[in-house]
Amino acid sequence: DNDNNNNNRRKEPDAIVSVKLDQDGQRDYPIYIGSELVKERGDLLRKHIKGETVLIVTNETVAPLYLEKVKESLLLSSSSKSLRIESVVLPDGEEHKNLDVLDLIFEKALDARLDRKTTFIALGGGVIGDMTGFAASAYQRGVNFIQIPTTVMAMVDSSVGGKTGVNHKKGKNMIGAFYQPQCVFVDIDSLDSLPEREYNSGIAEVIKYGLIRDAKFFDWIEQNADKLQKKAIDRKSLVYAIQRSCENKAEVVELDEKESGLNVRATLNLGHTFGHAIETGVGYGEYLHGEAVSIGTAMAADLSFRLGWIDENLQTRTVDLLKRFDLPIEVPRGSMTKEKFMDLMAVDKKASQGKMNFILLKGDLGGCVFTGDFDQTKLRETLESFVD
Ligand code: NAD
Ligand code: MG
Repeated sequence: DNDNNNNNRRKEPDAIVSVKLDQDGQRDYPIYIGSELVKERGDLLRKHIKGETVLIVTNETVAPLYLEKVKESLLLSSSSKSLRIESVVLPDGEEHKNLDVLDLIFEKALDARLDRKTTFIALGGGVIGDMTGFAASAYQRGVNFIQIPTTVMAMVDSSVGGKTGVNHKKGKNMIGAFYQPQCVFVDIDSLDSLPEREYNSGIAEVIKYGLIRDAKFFDWIEQNADKLQKKAIDRKSLVYAIQRSCENKAEVVELDEKESGLNVRATLNLGHTFGHAIETGVGYGEYLHGEAVSIGTAMAADLSFRLGWIDENLQTRTVDLLKRFDLPIEVPRGSMTKEKFMDLMAVDKKASQGKMNFILLKGDLGGCVFTGDFDQTKLRETLESFVD
């Protein structure tokens, strides 16, 4: 159809979140959120491509679904006549988020003779986003970079904040850089093909934003949980959930871009200390990240209640909301012991000076603290009630 070229009928994004990073606004960038963005708004994407070449980085699962659509949209956009589009398709999976696979991006870029004015586009979930961003930070000492996230996790979490990188055999996300994109292009239509489990896993992080800093948002998610179900998505509600999540993360990142010790950014890790122990202890692959975070969040709420920091009602609401999205809230029987939890959490990077730090809920809904300063017997009680 002709709509793509019709300036008068251009569909506007449903929401735009602007991420502010500096006083002078030099590195600020927009997150566009809406339906049919890939189909209709190649021009918007094109606007953020500075040079004449792009390298789309995607994986073998996402490529057959969206690669041609993105290419087509870019080529149809009016100013793209001289745009050269290259692409590289990586193997799918967290186990491929490593330096060897990263090198496939560099090889492609060098073979295609892409210069410093090229733009790398990440098309995929958090794995592709993290790898492409890191590759962009290093290729010829840094090239422009755009994110087109295609999972809820990537839309609400990994594509905001500038953390990029790969895993090392000695540790997850250990090699990387802070590197900000030119823009993020969130087309919620891409979620239609996302498996429900992956979708719900991302919702765990959405709920997290409400718990750590946004009581009104938490109330709203509770009231609109039906409209956010994968099987019956209400697009307007989903756009709002993504927008509010991005705004919350952006606000935290603006306060503490490089995790400088203010401990603000650390609050984004609610449920993650327990969650990481579960991911490692139960075995990688058993749980998706958001699922482990969900169990961890239930544990953090349990500990907060035992400490007398929140009332029982808030603990119940937390668990109930996670359950509405079929998220797990219990440690599978026989998979973990108290000692295993303690050992795994002690090596978590949030442990400093021998003390184990947690993000715990405190006070009214929306309040949390990052601390190691609490009655440790309560931690043992929480662990005892979650393992058997
Ligand atoms: P993922 O990238 O592995 O994607 C999940 C699965 O969904 C993959 O199999 C993928 O191919 C598939 N997929 C993606 N989009 C699809 C679509 N639209 N339709 C069908 N299938 C699709 O996982 P994720 O949950 O998106 O991201 C997890 C990664 O993100 C981890 O590596 C984690 O470390 C990272 N992360 C980074 C940050 C950050 O701040 N940089 C924050 C959170 C998570
Ligand atoms: Mg997380």
